[in-house]
Amino acid sequence: MLSKNKVIFLGAPGAGKGTFSAMLLEQVKLAHISTGDILRAEVASGSELGKQAAIIMQRGELLPDEIVAAMVKSRLAQDDCREGFILDGFPRTTPQAELLKQALQELDNELDGVIFFKVEDELLLKRLSGRISCKACGEIYNRYFQKPAVDMICDKCGGELFQRPDDSIETARERLKVFYEQTEPLIDYYRQQGLLLTITEVEKNKAFAALLELLQ
Ligand code: ADP
Ligand code: ZN
Repeated sequence: MLSKNKVIFLGAPGAGKGTFSAMLLEQVKLAHISTGDILRAEVASGSELGKQAAIIMQRGELLPDEIVAAMVKSRLAQDDCREGFILDGFPRTTPQAELLKQALQELDNELDGVIFFKVEDELLLKRLSGRISCKACGEIYNRYFQKPAVDMICDKCGGELFQRPDDSIETARERLKVFYEQTEPLIDYYRQQGLLLTITEVEKNKAFAALLELLQ
């Protein structure tokens, strides 16, 4: 098999990692490991960890490396991850990348590549601060680019639309700052290892087709 289907999606918040993952997963069977989703589920569960996480996420800051890495490691230990995975939103710091490397070694699994989604800041901020989603069905809209027909009502199911607390303009700015300070160094880190593939906004459609082929 030539497929390279064990990949990291790297990019600023709002770069489209989640959307791209969802589109790919409609067509290829891969484990999707989104640390943001795992953490939001933890928050929703009302656990002690969830309560702590909610505060940190609302500030736009990152959770401690060891905690997030342990979550990812236990997910990677599940059988389906042997066939292929998309790590969406992890690693986000150099220590996380080192912990990932160690975990993959221990699990006798490996990484094939890192896809970096390169997007301009101005667009990122509009995507984040404009993002609203349906409480009932999860459909995502954007106040600037993809408005619902009726303000704050879901076109699909009539449900109420809401903004994620960490998508407020203040938190969105903080998340971008955190990206440049803590996550951006990973671009060079993986480039030096020969693993990096950069996708820009203009090439997105072409890249999707190419990725689909690679991930099969
Ligand atoms: P986005 O990529 O849109 O910022 P995510 O859904 O990936 O959002 O993550 C939401 C929040 O969850 C982050 O702002 C951060 O607080 C926390 N988080 C997610 N992934 C990580 C990670 N790898 N390390 C630390 N914190 C994380
Ligand atoms: Zn809906």
